[in-house]
Amino acid sequence: MGRRAWIVMAAVSAALAAGCGGPSRPLFTGAAGFPAPVPLPVDLAGAGDPYFPTYGNGGYDVSAYDLKIKYDPASDQLTGVATVTATAKADLAKFHLDLHGLTVDKVTVDGAAATSTRDGDELIITPGAPLANGKEFVAVVAYGGVPKAIKAPDLGVTGFLTTHDGAFTLGEPESATTWFPVNDHPKDKALYTIELTVPTQLEAISNGLLDGRTAQGAWTSWKWRVTSPMAPYLATFVIGDYRLVEGTHKGKPVLTAVAETLPKGEIDKAMASTTEIVDFLEQYFGPYPFDAYGGIVIDDERVRYALETQTRPVYSDAFWSRGANTIVVAHELAHQWFGDSVSVQAWQHIWLNEGFATYAQWLWGEKLGVSTVQEEFDSRYDDPGSRIWDIAPGAPGADNIFSGSVYERGGMTLHALRKQVGDEKFFEILKTWASEQRDGNVTTTEFIALAERVSGQQLDTLFQKWLFEVGRPAQ
Ligand SMILES: [Zn+2]
Repeated sequence: MGRRAWIVMAAVSAALAAGCGGPSRPLFTGAAGFPAPVPLPVDLAGAGDPYFPTYGNGGYDVSAYDLKIKYDPASDQLTGVATVTATAKADLAKFHLDLHGLTVDKVTVDGAAATSTRDGDELIITPGAPLANGKEFVAVVAYGGVPKAIKAPDLGVTGFLTTHDGAFTLGEPESATTWFPVNDHPKDKALYTIELTVPTQLEAISNGLLDGRTAQGAWTSWKWRVTSPMAPYLATFVIGDYRLVEGTHKGKPVLTAVAETLPKGEIDKAMASTTEIVDFLEQYFGPYPFDAYGGIVIDDERVRYALETQTRPVYSDAFWSRGANTIVVAHELAHQWFGDSVSVQAWQHIWLNEGFATYAQWLWGEKLGVSTVQEEFDSRYDDPGSRIWDIAPGAPGADNIFSGSVYERGGMTLHALRKQVGDEKFFEILKTWASEQRDGNVTTTEFIALAERVSGQQLDTLFQKWLFEVGRPAQ
């Protein structure tokens, strides 16, 4: 996520002495500050995330969501059928999905009637017969009603939001529960088809490939398909009056959408720069991991951030309130590698998303001649009173997952690594991370182990002071 609608570009000229080091001590094996994984009992009502214990569910793994959703802006009524294909990871007499508001009309499991109850945002489903560990099953949930947003401490309101001409859904760390029954945690990534049926005069844009538009009377169905595993919070849609630009790049479709209420100009230019920025980032991160490109700009006072929704980030128009801005585009596109393709195993590891996306901003800013990466690092390092030193980005706490430390000190951690191992090894680490962990879920411990393997250096001291300790690391 891009957390602010402006980017401060302070230029300070001071060179850092390059660090050096050799494998004089054993490579990282897990030290204080890196909690060892503890096996947890199956928690049906949570995915085991220490920061957000109620997010997601345990006992199964979803492979695919097939969503058929009709939304009528005139009545604010959503009608949905969610077909969830999953595999039991334990013997299950019942299982949970997450759903915020909305009414469940009917549930089947493998074609047979199932019963369901609600407990807050938990939808508890009891199949006609228990599910054996290892069994693949298909749950179909028919549901509907007037969707409700979620209040989020950092972002105001998230999830489903109605607009003057339609609606959209957006938010991190959770938003999916407001529009479909879901195992809402990034560790359970799945494939998606998303069919949105809306009044014919409106656009309905979502993630991935557009498989077609089918008109029937006053309604049109837009069929979207996501062909790489996607974390639930990265699923999005916008329904409303948007101007679309469609094309292809390197054989893959490009689709951008800008709210018609926004003036043509810098916003459209920034969206048009999407593929150029992807090509730039490929030099450092390796091949773009998905089969579609795009972006969406919304016009809504309640949303003052951007989110890396998969293949098609959503941006607040506020990023262009001061004119041209492609830095935020570089940030959200970098997340396509780091956050979307390579996703966190738990929210504690969010610096692996935001630190990397911030670093990509700095790389792109250097290419534009705005400031060098070194200047970005120095301007922050030379501010000993900054709040980024008060929070350890590798363990920020649930209340601080979007803190400046996670972003800026996270990016500085990568620069400290670069200075330590040199440019060649540093970018080899980033490319190897993106390729080896493609479509996967990761932890900080795994990143440190990879950095040590690729560089041949012992790095736990560097990561310990940059990620896990409060206070400005000495240089
Ligand atoms: Zn971000």
